[in-house]
Amino acid sequence: MNAVPSQAGPDAQFRAYLEAGEFRLQQCGDCNAWVFFPRLLCPTCASRALVWRKVTGRGRVYSRAVLKRKPERGGDHAIVLVTLEEGVRLMSRLPTTAPEAIAIGMPVIARIEHAGDDPPTVVFMPDEDRP
Ligand SMILES: [Zn+2]
Repeated sequence: MNAVPSQAGPDAQFRAYLEAGEFRLQQCGDCNAWVFFPRLLCPTCASRALVWRKVTGRGRVYSRAVLKRKPERGGDHAIVLVTLEEGVRLMSRLPTTAPEAIAIGMPVIARIEHAGDDPPTVVFMPDEDRP
């Protein structure tokens, strides 16, 4: 695996943190807005003072879409949109939860998934500790 050069773009930086086992998002040092997808400029105030901060990974399912798939190809699976505590939304999956068991508003917690040779991604699991 190649080291990420320091001048790498914000997307590469995001993935490099995931590689290191850290879920970080950018926060604007000027207006405090959280930023996702990774960017060079704050979308709220256009500041360049974006700082990578660790996030709790806690969020709630905002919406879900079930994609039909034949059982021999892995069965139906769901794509979810999760709103993090920080207020940003990201598209992801709940790999350990059956699509029909995913409810809008359910509490979830992020986990970094390393699947084979694929780059690490953020997935979610039900967060049993919260109502
Ligand atoms: Zn800002």
